Amino acid sequence: MLDLNILSEQTVAMPDAAYQARHFINGVFVDSADGQKLDRVSPSHGIVVSQAALGSETETQAAIKAARAAFDDGRWSSLAAKERAAVLYRVADLIEQNEERLAVMETLESGKPISQSRGECGGAADLWRYAASLARTAHGDSHNTLGADILGVVVKEPIGVVSIITPWNFPFWILSQKLPFALAAGCTCVVKPSEMTPSTTSMLGEILVEAGLPAGVCNIVLGLGTPVGSLMTTHDDVDMVTFTGSTAVGKMITKSSGETLKKVALELGGKNPQVIFPDADLENAADAVTFGVYFNVGQCCNSSSRIIVHEDIADAFVERVVALSRKVVFGNPMHPDTQVGAIVTEDHKAKIDGYIKDAISAGAEICIGGQVLDVPGLGDQFYQPTVVRGVTPDMAIAREEVFGPVLTVLTFKTFDQAVALANDSTYGLSAGVWSENVHTCLEFCRRAQAGTVWTNTWMDGFPELAFGGMKQSGQGREIGRYGFEEFLEVKSLVMRIGRTRAPWVKTD
Ligand code: NAD
Repeated sequence: MLDLNILSEQTVAMPDAAYQARHFINGVFVDSADGQKLDRVSPSHGIVVSQAALGSETETQAAIKAARAAFDDGRWSSLAAKERAAVLYRVADLIEQNEERLAVMETLESGKPISQSRGECGGAADLWRYAASLARTAHGDSHNTLGADILGVVVKEPIGVVSIITPWNFPFWILSQKLPFALAAGCTCVVKPSEMTPSTTSMLGEILVEAGLPAGVCNIVLGLGTPVGSLMTTHDDVDMVTFTGSTAVGKMITKSSGETLKKVALELGGKNPQVIFPDADLENAADAVTFGVYFNVGQCCNSSSRIIVHEDIADAFVERVVALSRKVVFGNPMHPDTQVGAIVTEDHKAKIDGYIKDAISAGAEICIGGQVLDVPGLGDQFYQPTVVRGVTPDMAIAREEVFGPVLTVLTFKTFDQAVALANDSTYGLSAGVWSENVHTCLEFCRRAQAGTVWTNTWMDGFPELAFGGMKQSGQGREIGRYGFEEFLEVKSLVMRIGRTRAPWVKTD
């Protein structure tokens, strides 16, 4: 019997009935014209927890039309920024008031632990507040040095209608990394959540109404990547697409939106390394590695799914991570003590298991886990905490995004080897370094090819700090000032003072 910390008990009450998620178009909640719906079965409890309207081109067209009209008539973009900010601040307050309702639904649809859903949904209010604070800072530059007769002014304008497409792993958080920043800039939006986790986005629609967002400024269409998402990336009336999801779909979106040359911001996958040097605080590092790999069952773009550990300390370090893995609480996500919940779908669980089986056939060694986990009373849509050694950099498990609670261990001898291994990836989302030597850390930070580099920590994030990836982890940045700027166009105004312009056509 594998010695793991499994919790079956449930203390958080289930809702009385499945949530009915509907589209939100031009300020009105509607079902699909053809009446189609999609049931979402809780990955951890096996029961239907929501029924969502399944959108078609009809609803997508209507939502884009509403967003276009709302942008073009200036009902949002021409408001004073402080008025837009006031609405976003009200949304933040209402998110906090609705935290428990949002969190329960997030947990039931995604399988993540309730404590994490509470943190994610309640914490998202801070993103809305920060975006609100930025609304009033969208100023450009003035150029008073272009000659006595010229004044140049660079102004920022909202880019227009933005399509926002989000994944299932952090539905409410990722939505809040995009929508408030687009709204703060003065854009209007069409949002499509993942078909697996539609409800908290629909609930946000209710909050937007209560906060006083004018009709048509944010529209929500529920449904599948095709036809809903694809139309959102090709429609002439959309000016920008911001997408978070898989690298494969991100590449498709780059192509489909290229026809109309939309601006595209992409937050994609990662295969994020943490490099552990022998002089590191190993206790702290082992805990951060354990957190980094099991958080959200490893279904996390920022999962630290690869560690690159100095060979002198590799055995002891892996032993420590394995020991911690046994203590992490896996099980019923509707208990506040649970740290790791269910895998999002049966298919995804099979994909994770496939990576493990392939790695074993290729000669890798399983230090702990490596199998499906059956939680008494809940079934087996769970996966054991898994640590894999004896991995070579060419194995799929060391290169591809497993998106499960699976840690891959590689070792190094020299600093240069560590950097080379860390950068030996098509991805470049995040990386981490553990050492008590400031020079080691600084040099690693400068040489790591990643949008975020953590030093002696993992996954600390702040609304102020830009987030995004290098290489095939994406393009553009989200949150922070840089994320806000993505939603702004730049326009130069050139103004001549007096009649000093020499005629181009000679008339005498
Ligand atoms: P996914 O790419 O399958 O789906 C993401 C969204 O795209 C969903 O709403 C889906 O319906 C939609 N979609 C699918 N096909 C589409 C199409 N042809 N046109 C337009 N939209 C389409 O991703 P997922 O499985 O929901 O999420 C997991 C992935 O997301 C992982 O690869 C993960 O690394 C990535 N992710 C990245 C970040 C980041 O910030 N970098 C954050 C979270 C997740």
